[in-house]
Amino acid sequence: MAAKDDKQVNRAGFSTRAIHTGQEPDALTGAVMVPIYANSTYMQERPGEPGAHEYSRVSNPTRSALEECLADLENGAGSRAYASGMAAEATVLELLETGDHVLVSDDCYGGTRRLFEVIRRRSMGLEFSFVDVSDAGALAAALRPRTRMIWTESLTNPLMKVTDLGLVSEFARAHGLLSVCDNTFCSPALLRPLDFGIDLVLHSATKYLGGHSDMIAGVVTVADGRGDLLERLALLTYAVGGVLGPFESFLLLRSLKTLMVRMRSHSENGLRVARFLESHGGVERVYYPGLESHGGYEVARRQMEGFGGMMSVDLRGGMEGVRRFLGGLEVFTLAESLGGVESLVEHPATMTHKGLGAEVRREVGIGDGLVRLSVGIEDGDDLLRDLTAALSRL
Ligand SMILES: *Cc1c(COP(=O)(O)O)cnc(C)c1O
Repeated sequence: MAAKDDKQVNRAGFSTRAIHTGQEPDALTGAVMVPIYANSTYMQERPGEPGAHEYSRVSNPTRSALEECLADLENGAGSRAYASGMAAEATVLELLETGDHVLVSDDCYGGTRRLFEVIRRRSMGLEFSFVDVSDAGALAAALRPRTRMIWTESLTNPLMKVTDLGLVSEFARAHGLLSVCDNTFCSPALLRPLDFGIDLVLHSATKYLGGHSDMIAGVVTVADGRGDLLERLALLTYAVGGVLGPFESFLLLRSLKTLMVRMRSHSENGLRVARFLESHGGVERVYYPGLESHGGYEVARRQMEGFGGMMSVDLRGGMEGVRRFLGGLEVFTLAESLGGVESLVEHPATMTHKGLGAEVRREVGIGDGLVRLSVGIEDGDDLLRDLTAALSRL
């Protein structure tokens, strides 16, 4: 598929675009930052002749600036911003018809599985098959006459499996499927799925895009050359109405400006922490795409620019070991979610993946001794010191 930087030729760099795209100084006041347009409706000069904006569910200047910037960072044709990652996912499913079938990554986010299996199977009559999306044979075996979409994640949770996006997009193209990639764990600073032929890229902007654990938001970006798809998504977005408000749009726009520096720092600390943990006697196994011991390392190296801050670790000593370890951490905070500047730790078996049940967890490979780290951008020395102290209690 397309090389990583095909579309970067003669264009400003990532951070320059993150700071400037869609963010010209305000025409009215000269304000350098895009104002928060806390506003629902817009004056029309004459009946039936609206200006650029008509009603804020359809478009709002603050949200439009954010969407323009996001589309540029993903190398896409256009974006839509939503009140949450789940609202973004729900709107994307509206592209389908009753009875359609979707191939879904078997290691997908728990909330995605719930929306698909518990809600939309019942309310929309959709069918879902959960498969290993990096296995072309498994994908082909799961195809049905009504298969219309393939749903992947660039990096999965909690085992950090790396999806081969070129393989997915070729498969999708060969069978006329719409390809979707949830890029939450990488962000466009590390990976841009549209460059690998994916049709729609989606984020829980609550995580790395927001980056400060202070908001809930979602984003969808449509591939270049797919104006038809963008038009359909735009209609569905204002018809269903799960849009992001102007205050959060402003916050997210502000976060994007530091996305690249944050992701570089996450990646630097992430690799350092992963290498340290891999060499520690209290640790059985580290799941991090930047380690050569990781099954997805080669694909990650080809697709990504830096490996980010997400990893999982099998601790020796099972549940009891986990309790001791968590009790000894001071810099890492025990909490769900990820992608903020602060380091977080969580225990999938009793927290994020409890709902899967013990049997499915065992099948997927989520043991009681597994902990997931979201490595923040604190000083790396402090993170290693914190982990050393906690591991000494095993
Ligand atoms: C958190 C998350 C979501 C859901 O996003 P919200 O903003 O919490 O609604 C979807 N996909 C992934 C991979 C996530 O981590």
